[in-house]
Amino acid sequence: MHIEQGPIRPPSEAASLLIRVTRNCPWNKCAFCSTYKGEKFSRRPVEDVLRDVDTVRQVSEQVMQISWSKGLGGKISSEVVNESGARYGHLHYHVASWLYYGGRSVFLQDANSLLLKTSDLVKVIEYIRAAFPTVERVTTYARADTAARKNEDDYLALRNAGLARIHMGMESGSDIVLKMVKKGITANQLIQAAHKIKGAGISLCWYIMPGLGGKEHAREHALETARVINAGNPDYVRFRTLSVLKGTPLYDMAQSGIFTVPGEDDMVEEQRLIIQSLDGVTTTIVSDHMLNLLQELEGTLPADRDTMLDIIDRYLALPEDAKNNYQLGRRAGIYLKLDDMQNKNRYNYVQGLLSQIGGPENIKKELARIRRGFV
Ligand code: SF4
Repeated sequence: MHIEQGPIRPPSEAASLLIRVTRNCPWNKCAFCSTYKGEKFSRRPVEDVLRDVDTVRQVSEQVMQISWSKGLGGKISSEVVNESGARYGHLHYHVASWLYYGGRSVFLQDANSLLLKTSDLVKVIEYIRAAFPTVERVTTYARADTAARKNEDDYLALRNAGLARIHMGMESGSDIVLKMVKKGITANQLIQAAHKIKGAGISLCWYIMPGLGGKEHAREHALETARVINAGNPDYVRFRTLSVLKGTPLYDMAQSGIFTVPGEDDMVEEQRLIIQSLDGVTTTIVSDHMLNLLQELEGTLPADRDTMLDIIDRYLALPEDAKNNYQLGRRAGIYLKLDDMQNKNRYNYVQGLLSQIGGPENIKKELARIRRGFV
């Protein structure tokens, strides 16, 4: 048994069933992105998507049979998940894992599902919810230009069908930066899309990329990003710190000197300026991407603003050698948060790694190499 699935999903959708409704990205020009390079965008026929949902239902029945055969009465344990994968392969493992987490959430792939006709998307969402009554929320990615073109009735129909959240790559609120990285959207489109989506009662999550303005536009990037967040008041803002990948146009821009990649501290300072400049919003900040140095930087505005600024200030106040220690410890998975440095064993272990790597230039290169591996 087989269904078609795309390559990515947001980190927060790890427990979601992945159903592909379109293939790849219709824009595919962002200077920092290599996810769909060389791949052509297409809409999948609705019947094919519905057939995939039927296949998932058959797979879930086989997973249930494994549970019953173990005397678990339909309960999905980690043992059932592992056996489903071992006996039948990846799709069964994926579906069993989804059921293990309650079968509550479904993510529609790939990069811009709103390009489907609203009536087709409604049909898919309703079909999924009829097939799996446990599903509480269906979510998807959308580009701001497409999202701004949909009207209020489209969003109401989608919300009524069960679309609960839209994940959107904002990257920056600065039109200068958006143009420089060929994002193909504007600050105004982001704000329009936010008002329509939130107006219909659909949750909105924006992804922003500290570092994307380069050193050249760092301040503009941070201040305009805060301005657009203030105007759109998304439910969530997720940081996803820049990592410049070889083979992307942004890498070439950096090589030719048009774009200067900011250092870790520069990008943390941008985060500080963004959070400090947020005003009148009730947004929750999330930093759950591996690329973020300060993954503990989370909270809801306005109540948690000072706590978040305090985390940033504690990091920025560290002496240089402690910053190196923290950066390597985080990147190597030894620390999750700043307080983990207080553990002497871990701290000394990281110091040992640092001395093996050598001087500051080698450390910088090694940290950049590890970060590239996270994308
Ligand atoms: S819109 Fe998203 S998926 Fe498409 S190229 Fe840009 S970042 Fe990549």
